[in-house]
Amino acid sequence: MRYKQNCTSCGIGLVEIGYSLFDCPNCGEEVIGRCKECREHTTEYQCPKCGFVGP
Ligand SMILES: [Zn+2]
Ligand SMILES: [Zn+2]
Repeated sequence: MRYKQNCTSCGIGLVEIGYSLFDCPNCGEEVIGRCKECREHTTEYQCPKCGFVGP
């Protein structure tokens, strides 16, 4: 099931409008969640599956 409830970067719940969900650009097997804050500040995220770090 491709769904994520929390921001991958900061762990905050994805309830606020403006968050984004996308597949990991490296392995494509993990869903990356990013809250509005982390998108605006381009906070790094790390894929929990393959360890890929990206903006
Ligand atoms: Zn966040
Ligand atoms: Zn990955």
